[in-house]
Amino acid sequence: MDVIVIGGGASGLVAAIKARELGHNVTIVERNNKCGKKLLLTGNGKCNFWNNIQTIDKYHSANLNLFENILNNKKDEVINFFNDLGVVEKNINGYFYPFTNQSITILNALLYRIEKLNIKIIYNELVTNINFKDKFIINTNMNKYICDRVILSVGSKSYSKTGSDGSGYKLLKNFGHNINEILPSLVPIIGKENFYKEIEGVRSDVILSLRENNVIIKEERGEVQFNKTGLSGICTFNLSGLISRGLNNSKKEEILINFVPWFNGNKIEFIKWLDKKDKRYKLSELLDGFLNYKIGNLIIKLSKNTLDSYWEEVDKERIVDLIMSFKIEVKDTLSYENAQVCSGGVYLNEIDTNTMESLKVKGLYVTGELLDVDGDCGGYNLGIAWMTGLIAGESIK
Ligand SMILES: Cc1cc2nc3c(=O)[nH]c(=O)nc-3n(C[C@H](O)[C@H](O)[C@H](O)COP(=O)(O)OP(=O)(O)OC[C@H]3O[C@@H](n4cnc5c(N)ncnc54)[C@H](O)[C@@H]3O)c2cc1C
Repeated sequence: MDVIVIGGGASGLVAAIKARELGHNVTIVERNNKCGKKLLLTGNGKCNFWNNIQTIDKYHSANLNLFENILNNKKDEVINFFNDLGVVEKNINGYFYPFTNQSITILNALLYRIEKLNIKIIYNELVTNINFKDKFIINTNMNKYICDRVILSVGSKSYSKTGSDGSGYKLLKNFGHNINEILPSLVPIIGKENFYKEIEGVRSDVILSLRENNVIIKEERGEVQFNKTGLSGICTFNLSGLISRGLNNSKKEEILINFVPWFNGNKIEFIKWLDKKDKRYKLSELLDGFLNYKIGNLIIKLSKNTLDSYWEEVDKERIVDLIMSFKIEVKDTLSYENAQVCSGGVYLNEIDTNTMESLKVKGLYVTGELLDVDGDCGGYNLGIAWMTGLIAGESIK
């Protein structure tokens, strides 16, 4: 078979290797002058390429049960695949990185194998159109190519400077596919409040609770980072996909921050804990022992007290409410350009998840972020790319 893989990113490179190993004649068409630009950015350049805590709640899709099929099929193969490419991994509490701590180790391992297998890569050509008439006809901005099978691996529309600008959705729509609405995910959150400049740069270990239309729907524990317009950091990112979708459906999205995740008790017990403190201390001095001072000062200001107030003089419930349920009203998320991934994509019930072949167009396979499944931070999104790339490449016949 003549196989063209469109997109030389994470999933396309894996699919190309697997299809070539079956003896097919494989060519990759990549719009950039290099493959794997996004892959190089992953994990702050260290590439968190896998996670061995593989439970379905780490993933999001309109058809999660179908993704479970992919997960069950392939989760045990990914590390073996990379070991076979020569990569030695480092496992930090289930989060896998290359031992070198460099994403280029993963990219080079893929490219060395591609070279050994004599897979041709055509660079600097943007695929603009695909047609099917007996065979696939692929038009780029410069050439036309004919092939028997196509693997579409062009990614989503996040970080378009890496090459993925959403062109794949149009290519799939032209074949009659339906796309679950594309929204930014793993992205910073913009709050409605006007105090962010006062706490910009603060990092704090917290519990974040996402409240949608007054109901708590998800909790995350970890580090939150404040910037000049709102919240960032891994636990914020892990709420952001739900927030994007909720806002898109006109839901009210709020985040409650518990700044004392170490305290094992409720608000009344926390008041009692503070009651036992030395009465000679001002409120600001008490808070300084367990809160970042900028957060403490903000809480005092929002509770309409002053730095010189004493614990016995203030509205204790209000203060503890701000410490344990600090409310952020979400205005928006940052854009696709700042989103690590997109949620949404081609519906999985339009794809045979045993092969990644389109159920609408025989011979067309779809991988990676183009699909309607995205994962939490922690190696899950590259996991989707590897697993779907493996399945597509192995299924070409
Ligand atoms: C800053 C950042 C950090 C991240 N960190 C992590 C992490 O640590 N762990 C993790 O699991 N995930 C991480 N991700 C997510 C992960 O990188 C992606 O989910 C993954 O790369 C998606 O793989 P893909 O093959 O679907 O698409 P991509 O890797 O985006 O590859 C798509 C390729 O197709 C090419 N292309 C696009 N359109 C065309 C066209 N029309 N014609 C020809 N070529 C085209 C692009 O140039 C690109 O090379 C991160 C993402 C970002 C942005």
